[in-house]
Amino acid sequence: SKTVHVIGGGLAGCEAAWQLARAGLSVILHEMRPVRPTPAHQTDGLAELVCSNSLRSDDADYNAVGLLHEEMRRSGSLILAQADIHKVPAGGALAVDRDGFSAGIQAALQGHPLVTIAREEVPGLPPADWDSVIIATGPLTSPAMAEGLRGLTGEDSLAFFDAIAPIVTKESIDFSKAWFQSRYDKGTGSDYINCPLTREQYYAFIDALIEGDKVEFHDWEKDTPYFEGCLPIEVMASRGKDTLAYGPMKPVGLTSPHGPKPFAVVQLRQDNALGTLYNLVGFQTKLRHGDQMRVFRAIPGLENAEFARLGGLHRNTFVNGPRVLDGSLRLKAQPRLRLAGQVTGCEGYVESAAIGLLAGLFAAAEALGGELAAPPLTTALGALLAHVTGGGDAETYQPMNINFGLFPPPPERDEKGRKIKGRDRKKLYADRAREALTPWLDLISSR
Ligand code: FAD
Repeated sequence: SKTVHVIGGGLAGCEAAWQLARAGLSVILHEMRPVRPTPAHQTDGLAELVCSNSLRSDDADYNAVGLLHEEMRRSGSLILAQADIHKVPAGGALAVDRDGFSAGIQAALQGHPLVTIAREEVPGLPPADWDSVIIATGPLTSPAMAEGLRGLTGEDSLAFFDAIAPIVTKESIDFSKAWFQSRYDKGTGSDYINCPLTREQYYAFIDALIEGDKVEFHDWEKDTPYFEGCLPIEVMASRGKDTLAYGPMKPVGLTSPHGPKPFAVVQLRQDNALGTLYNLVGFQTKLRHGDQMRVFRAIPGLENAEFARLGGLHRNTFVNGPRVLDGSLRLKAQPRLRLAGQVTGCEGYVESAAIGLLAGLFAAAEALGGELAAPPLTTALGALLAHVTGGGDAETYQPMNINFGLFPPPPERDEKGRKIKGRDRKKLYADRAREALTPWLDLISSR
């Protein structure tokens, strides 16, 4: 039968290889460790978790990543099956014994008669006679492969450094304080959401930024250049207390409908086509996550902000998915090559594995002479895939965890006209997703 090559034995590559083998295809999984290490991996094991041992919330009713877990279990995921076997107590989260988890995944793949594991680097674009390939080389893709991808996708479609500002859900912003307006009413006149600060609030905010607890750079990150255009906000604040008031937080060209002229302003820009997510403009940061939530929730209008993602700064190799990938994760420039995992610009262990699962299913369908439709947009798998392949804005594309802001919003009110809020609304997303996934799973099982 046809052989599919999977490059990278991480979260995405292992899941993709498993899905291909389950569909009856032979797979060669190429993993460069231990021949060539990465700066973050510590072992030779497949699917090594490089940092935390948590796959985050396992609550499928009220949490988008918990819902993604459930959808992956229903789709026959190897990563989720092994996580369940190697689970350790962690409240509502799904955390694992990292060594057992990695060993379990490796044993399952090694034991599968259709899977061959090759311990070697694929140094650049795969040979021309590999006609079906999944590249799942992760955020620490080897330099030769990164160069190969860059040659194919273009200079500015492959980021090596990830400077990200926090993103909040629009529905968690308090519009009795915030308002829509662009500076000098440019664009549509209301492209941005603005949060006003008084003089006292501004200086308290600057102090909190400077005093906040920061994540230190890893040794191997220290050589990565700092671009002046994406300096962390706390670095700007430490250059002078008024730097931000004259920079990203300047109040010029804006008039608050709610009160006096603000001393400083935090602007938020629409982040997705649906208009459900907004990022804090210029607020890329290395503050620790707990401190980010505390410091940013002190901004008027953001007291109850729900963060779809927090800010951060680390090395990351990912393509501009919406620009270079088609709807089934193939590189438009060379459709024999599919991408999977964090190199597509999703973020996180679970998301990487989920995109690996989809890449495996798409490649299997293709090798068997058919085609598999994308999962519905209202499912977690579908919402994540859409972000990576087209829903994200190509101009401002940034890696993102799964969150309900990536789903099309459900109706605001129930049939009696009552507003559906908070937990009820999350449950609505989850129930709608569950129902929509069933017919899609039937497509796979009927192949
Ligand atoms: P990986 O799991 O990294 O797998 C890629 C594999 O490809 C590796 O095994 C690598 O050795 C191999 N490879 C690379 N190039 C080649 C080549 N040319 N030929 C053959 N093999 C190759 N996410 C979280 O959810 N929680 C966290 O706590 C977290 N911490 C992180 C910390 C760091 C330092 C980094 C860089 C990322 C972190 N992430 C975290 C983000 C991300 O979810 C993980 O990196 C995740 O492992 C990505 O899955 P992946 O399969 O895409 O890549």
